[in-house]
Amino acid sequence: MHMKYCKRCLQPDTRPGIKFNEEGICYACLWEEEKKKIDWDERFSELQAIADEAKKEAKDRGNLYDCVIGVSGGKDSTFQAIYAKEKLGLNPLLVNCAPDEITEVGQHNIDNLNKLSGGFDIISIKLNPVVAKKLARKSFFERGNIIAGSEYCLWASSYIIANKFNIPLIIQGENAALTLGTVLRQDTSGDAFNVSKLDTLRGFDIDELIAGTDISKRDMYFYNLPNIDEMKRKGIKAIWLQYYAKEWSQVYNADFSIARGLWGRTRVDLHNIGRYRRYSALDSDLQIANQMIKYLKFGFGFATDEACYDIREGRLSREDAKWLIREYDGKCGEEYIKIACKYLEITVDEFWNVIDKFVNKDLFYKDEQGKWCPKFKVGEDFDV
Ligand SMILES: [Zn+2]
Repeated sequence: MHMKYCKRCLQPDTRPGIKFNEEGICYACLWEEEKKKIDWDERFSELQAIADEAKKEAKDRGNLYDCVIGVSGGKDSTFQAIYAKEKLGLNPLLVNCAPDEITEVGQHNIDNLNKLSGGFDIISIKLNPVVAKKLARKSFFERGNIIAGSEYCLWASSYIIANKFNIPLIIQGENAALTLGTVLRQDTSGDAFNVSKLDTLRGFDIDELIAGTDISKRDMYFYNLPNIDEMKRKGIKAIWLQYYAKEWSQVYNADFSIARGLWGRTRVDLHNIGRYRRYSALDSDLQIANQMIKYLKFGFGFATDEACYDIREGRLSREDAKWLIREYDGKCGEEYIKIACKYLEITVDEFWNVIDKFVNKDLFYKDEQGKWCPKFKVGEDFDV
């Protein structure tokens, strides 16, 4: 077992689906380089052409909506919705698949988006919470991942609505193949139908998702991606906005959305949330414990992702980023572990018993207090 870091950012090769080139540079860094060579005016013309075609298609179909956008009310989806409406002149139908036990901040943000830019129609999907909890428990016990089930619905719902309402365009946000460099799992084009290859949807199908539970397939409608070939035959397109829009970045989207009323986790201690920015993953507190688990499985958490964006986009040196990662990565306040336990209906002891099974013991050791500590140093290639 070894863990190698990208020579340019601090991305470790333990991320599933990651690829480095021969010089040891990750594909997310290579994309950042490529971005500088892109003719963005030309990309925008391509996008405008796609938008114009969607408008024409919608009109021909007697449809009032031109496109569907899945929204959480967070920084990315706020940017997407307003960009589609104001810059591309589209009439978007928004779809929100609210997480079970949405946070106050998350509720504010979706209500805020609802009213922005003259207002949007939002279809809100409130999933069966009994089923959602069963799925969360199963995925926690089997895979050490609390939110795997809800990610299915997040992805599938906008495709389902586009398919049902016969709306010709789906606008997705960020392609992880480009910004995280997970090119082994996904292609890097602007076509978002490659969503079916995405990490969150891979690995098992609905049958496997519900196997061993008493959940019926009849309860899984909104977890199931429609047939993509059929959607293509109906003339439905899906794109990644980030591929076409020069402005797209984590920080730009946050600034853009804060200026329009987005709330963040402004009052919490950053050590408790395992990140140093306050404007991502706002609608669910289960995310916080989940990122800690990811850290213990792979040796990196949310602060690493943030730091890598900042290095690539020139806001942070690799050295300063190491400090931020050491300080925040994988941290999770007791209160968030309690929230996760309460949701999963387990005790804190049971929680740690399950986590202990999933910790990568090559990368972490348990100290005398029973706390998992890294054997590796951030940014230094590590061999066991
Ligand atoms: Zn890199």
